[in-house]
This record gives sequence, structure tokens and C-alpha cells, in this order.
Amino acid sequence: MSDIKSICVYCGSSNAVTPAYLILARELGQALVQQGLRLVYGGGGVGLMGACAQAAHQAGGDVLGIIPRFLLQKERIYEDVEHRIVEDMHTRKQMMFDESDAFIVLPGGIGTLEEAVEMLSWARLGLHAKPMAFLDEDGFWDPFFELMDHIIEGKFTPEAFRSLLIHADTPQMAISALKDHHVKLS
Ligand code: AMP
Repeated sequence: MSDIKSICVYCGSSNAVTPAYLILARELGQALVQQGLRLVYGGGGVGLMGACAQAAHQAGGDVLGIIPRFLLQKERIYEDVEHRIVEDMHTRKQMMFDESDAFIVLPGGIGTLEEAVEMLSWARLGLHAKPMAFLDEDGFWDPFFELMDHIIEGKFTPEAFRSLLIHADTPQMAISALKDHHVKLS
């Protein structure tokens, strides 16, 4: 049986994106609750992060938001859920990592990419074995997977790294892929 209890979601903070992405974020929030999983996220009320957290909270789930003080206004902290205010981005990211057993990456911008790639690079260095799934419905992450193919074909990263790159197109698929992967690693 999988022992994944908390999933960290990395996702975009923009409100200007196509509504389908916000809907997917809401669906993910609901799916986490249905599976009895806690959501760990960046603590804001904007964009996909706000959509995911509000959906999870409204469905009665556990949510932990972690936000740096300087972003309280900009990312409109979502105060209805458990939250921690930290002093810098590094502490936020470390705490999000420490509080979770696996990661799901929804569509997002440079911040989302940075968070996901840092966790992949820590995995590459053998610093953790927490699985990560990229979730989209429309191939949003395809260019990232093409870039990873390119890097692996160039032998900058070993072929074995592919097993860490999970791509899912529904929240349920993402969650079950993480659970399967977790069992394999342990
Ligand atoms: P974005 O995908 O650019 O909308 O950013 C998504 C989230 O990532 C936002 O909450 C950003 O504050 C956050 N973020 C951006 N850069 C970093 C970083 N270096 N460490 C942790 N979080 C970050």
C-alpha cells in the first residue's frame, strides 16, 4: 500500500490564463480530497494555486499553504486554510518539500518550472526519492518533455532518469501514478 499522505502541488499564479487550466486545478483539489490526501501548496489565493486550494478546502480536505511574507499581498494569501508565513522563497520551497511525500505539477510559469526542476535536480542528485507527476489535459507540458528527451539523447542526463518523468492527463491518473511509483521506490 502506498504511504503517500501529502501532495505538494506546483502551479501557476496567474489569473489571466484560459479557464480550462483553473478548472483542472479545481478538479485536482477535489481529487486529492476524495483520495484522502493533504494538499501542500504555495499559500496564495490567485491563479491555479488559489483554484486548487479553494476546491480542496470547500470539499473538506486538509490544506497547508506556505507563503513568504513579501508575497502576502501579491499572491493574496488564502487565510481560510492552515498557513505558514516564512521569510524567503528558499524557506518556502524547503518547507513545501519537507511537508510532502510527492509532487504534482500543473500548468504554470517560470516559478512553477523553477520549483519542479529543482525537485527533479535534487532527485537526480539522489537527495530524495519523492515522485513527481506533470498534469495537463492539452499537452501543455509536451515541450518540457521534448526538452528532457533532447537532454537525455545528448547524454547529459542518464536514460534511467526517464522513470522520474511522469506525464498524466487527469488528476486521478496523476495520483495513481504517484502511488505506484512510490511503492516501486520503497
Ligand atoms: P508562476 O508559475 O511564475 O506563476 O509561479 C508559481 C509560484 O511559484 C508562485 O507562487 C511563485 O511565488 C512561486 N515561485 C517563483 N519562484 C520561486 C522560487 N524560486 N522558489 C519558490 N517559489 C517560487
